[in-house]
Amino acid sequence: MPSTTEYIGRFAPSPTGPLHLGSLATAIGSWLDARCNNGRWLLRIEDTDTPRCSPGAAENIITTLHKFGLHWDGDVVWQSQRSSAYETALNHLNATGHTFPCACSRKNVEQANGPAPRHHSQHYPGTCRHGLPASKTARAVRFRTSNATTGEPVIARWNEWGEGLTQENIEQVHGDFVIHRADGLWAYQLAVVVDDLAQGITHVVRGADLKDSTGRQVALMQAILETKSPVEQPEIAGALHPAIPVYRHLPLILNERGEKLSKQAGATALDLTDLTGEMNRAWAVFGLPAIATDRPSDWLKQAAPMWASYCQRGNQNA
Ligand code: GLU
Repeated sequence: MPSTTEYIGRFAPSPTGPLHLGSLATAIGSWLDARCNNGRWLLRIEDTDTPRCSPGAAENIITTLHKFGLHWDGDVVWQSQRSSAYETALNHLNATGHTFPCACSRKNVEQANGPAPRHHSQHYPGTCRHGLPASKTARAVRFRTSNATTGEPVIARWNEWGEGLTQENIEQVHGDFVIHRADGLWAYQLAVVVDDLAQGITHVVRGADLKDSTGRQVALMQAILETKSPVEQPEIAGALHPAIPVYRHLPLILNERGEKLSKQAGATALDLTDLTGEMNRAWAVFGLPAIATDRPSDWLKQAAPMWASYCQRGNQNA
């Protein structure tokens, strides 16, 4: 992904378990992409969803990345320490009319919609959008995906690597979505956006399972950015806001049932006695040939030019 401007990438694992082949592939892809562009590569531990986090998993991920030679720049950012930034963003979105309190449970939404097809998020039916129904109390906060006055839908616009300028009608595709959960936790969509903006991320390189979240994340960014003073955040007429990153979604390693590797889908921990063997197995997902060396730093050095030509090929096919 050649770029003339500064490149800041990141790897943002959720510490639900140790790294597995799938997360290693994402880490290698985003690391190489940053390094091939003379960029910075930041590490953010996404530990907001405390019930899903495993004790010791974050520390384990940190040590494992070092073993693979995937060193990052600057300090590790921990989402569990960023609550006040999320609170500020939420207050800002509340004050600018981009949110509403919602009393609906997941069951209410399902009852209103009927069963959703597998892997499809439920489209919010709008029950609390014009005010909480009588005698109901707010449980969560939702992002409003159409303008409260004009009814115009929110359209997210971003650059998707290999596809170019992409847009999504968030109202139509997802409907109003939760940014502060009923259990009091920050929703992934809000936390990731506040952090990507705060860290000045220019390129988000991650697994293809998160492609579906991109439009919602960009919509939140647009809402956060639109009301900043023009001097602070200059808008470029007709172009995307400069703070909105380029997104690139990498192919996923699937298990024998065709599911994305994850702790829940039975992914096993990496074999740390065969580091470059694991790197080659992860790398195979990009269709790239094995690299013969025992040293991770050497492996990464040899992988860099291969990654650069892989990216060029991808660009031509786009
Ligand atoms: N924390 C997310 C995960 O591990 C990734 C977030 C992102 O890259 O945007 O699935």
